[in-house]
Amino acid sequence: KALLEVRRVSKKYGNGSTALSDVSFSIQEGEFVSIIGPSGAGKSTLLRCINRMIEVSSGEVVFQNVNVTKLGKKQLKQVRRTIGMIFQHYNLVNRLSVIENVLHGRLGYKSTLAGMLGLYNEEEKKKAVEILAMLGLQDQIYKRADQLSGGQKQRVGIARALVQEPKLLLCDEPIASLDPNASKTIMDYLKTISTTLGITVLVNLHQVDVALKYSDRIIGVNKGRIIYDGVPREMTSDM
Ligand code: ADP
Ligand code: ADP
Repeated sequence: KALLEVRRVSKKYGNGSTALSDVSFSIQEGEFVSIIGPSGAGKSTLLRCINRMIEVSSGEVVFQNVNVTKLGKKQLKQVRRTIGMIFQHYNLVNRLSVIENVLHGRLGYKSTLAGMLGLYNEEEKKKAVEILAMLGLQDQIYKRADQLSGGQKQRVGIARALVQEPKLLLCDEPIASLDPNASKTIMDYLKTISTTLGITVLVNLHQVDVALKYSDRIIGVNKGRIIYDGVPREMTSDM
């Protein structure tokens, strides 16, 4: 069944640039979908519209049969908890440890205070440690985030998303800042998360070869419009 439906979404930024024009698709539970397209195509805008980091100009986003576009602040917060997001630049808090980033990464300054006061829920902490170990970071748990390599930082980003037990993982160019080795590691982890945890993955990529290798389905975007939506093997090289 459809986990996510994007219905006729358009997005025009305040400066007048149109980033998305009438985009529609739906994602089934468990699918691993790559969104590919050149820089400026609208990929990042699309992901941000899905979890409402930005507002659509028209159209709607329906997640688990809930119209996300219409939700109030409090309900939106609950929905967002089940939509994990990972970023090209990891968005970690550098001065915090790995485990602090995973548990309280989004809180920034408050999390330091929480840490100083020992306000960690032991159960949450145990879960975070397990997820970090699953991602091969068992020896990095108490290191500061800025001591890690790029690939390790991205794995922390993945752990921060997973600790929320998301149904959907939105990945915005997760490997664009990584070397080929680290890129492969990250993509392999995303695939494992999809197949073993059953989490639906929607990932923005600009490398077609990577998308072909890992995806069940590819959505090609150019100039804010969908120009391909189908299985990798039917994709022609001229898109
Ligand atoms: P992609 O992720 O495919 O590179 P983006 O979604 O980042 O594409 O950008 C799509 C279009 O929207 C581009 O023309 C870009 O310049 C524009 N854009 C993106 N973010 C903003 C913003 N905050 N304000 C104005 N225009 C933006
Ligand atoms: P860019 O790299 O395009 O400059 P970022 O990906 O760094 O933008 O951040 C985009 C938005 O995501 C910002 O508004 C930021 O506040 C928000 N953000 C950063 N970290 C998180 C997070 N862990 N969860 C949800 N939103 C976040």
